Amino acid sequence: MNNLRCDLVDAGLLIATGVDGIVGRGAVFEDVLMRLNAIIARWGTRHGAEVVHFPPVINRTHLERNGYLKSFPQLATALHGFTCDAHDGAVGEDLSTDLMMTPAACYPVYPMVAARGPLPIGGALFNIQSWCFRREPSQDTSRLQSFRMHEYVRLGTEGDVLAFREAWIVEAGALYESLQLPFRLDDANDAFFGRAGRLMASSQRERNLKIELLIAITSDTEPTACCSFNYAEDHFTDAWQIAMPDGSKALSCCVAFGMERTTLALFRHHGFDPARWPAPVRDVLYSDGR
Ligand code: ATP
Ligand code: ZN
Repeated sequence: MNNLRCDLVDAGLLIATGVDGIVGRGAVFEDVLMRLNAIIARWGTRHGAEVVHFPPVINRTHLERNGYLKSFPQLATALHGFTCDAHDGAVGEDLSTDLMMTPAACYPVYPMVAARGPLPIGGALFNIQSWCFRREPSQDTSRLQSFRMHEYVRLGTEGDVLAFREAWIVEAGALYESLQLPFRLDDANDAFFGRAGRLMASSQRERNLKIELLIAITSDTEPTACCSFNYAEDHFTDAWQIAMPDGSKALSCCVAFGMERTTLALFRHHGFDPARWPAPVRDVLYSDGR
């Protein structure tokens, strides 16, 4: 299945750029992705999630404060400018910008919530999507450096956020089933850096903090995470001092859909022409008649 990327490029679904993990998209691929996005967004409308949007860059100090630069330095990417000379143009690299690429859609929610003060009664729920960047160049078509995440973030008591996660595991399973994509759920861990990171990863698994929904895309034996259900405990709420209205600890969970991966899974399992996809799958995606 190594030729999947070549086949997708030949079919005009993806556009090669000469850089691993960076692809353009043709109209057909993007249309399917946008339809999936709209389906995921509908849940938020039904549940009163607040929609927020941020650009794909993030304040560097926010990634320092939430621990990203310690836990995932290998994936982090900073923006820099150039020092310029009137005659020679760019003469050196200026590392002084305070921006980094956003590595996960949910990160900008926390400083925003912190600035608002204590959470309202019942906590908070956000619908957020963003281009994300992770420095993990790969030949694997499903491992991109620049990709989109559509997330829901729930902040509240432990009961609130765990109920949210359970509900989304069921909801997402029903969605992928309706799309006729064979999946399995599994415990997982984030790619924490270094020796200390290995301990964090195994503790994350043992405590069942991260669950992934896996679908075979580029390999039948090593399926790809298309969606993850993450219980952050007080990791972010502690970093940002976010509390419940009575001053008690707030906790958080997020569910994150990989939009390119889910779209790739559809093309991989149902073929390259959406007009010929199974009728029930088309009903889900094209129920608006377009
Ligand atoms: P993986 O285990 O494959 O490295 P992850 O555990 O790093 O994924 P998360 O941090 O939970 O993934 O990100 C949320 C979702 O974003 C993932 O479930 C996946 O669908 C998507 N995603 C993550 N990394 C990539 C990537 N490099 N390319 C495309 N999609 C990605
Ligand atoms: Zn998240």
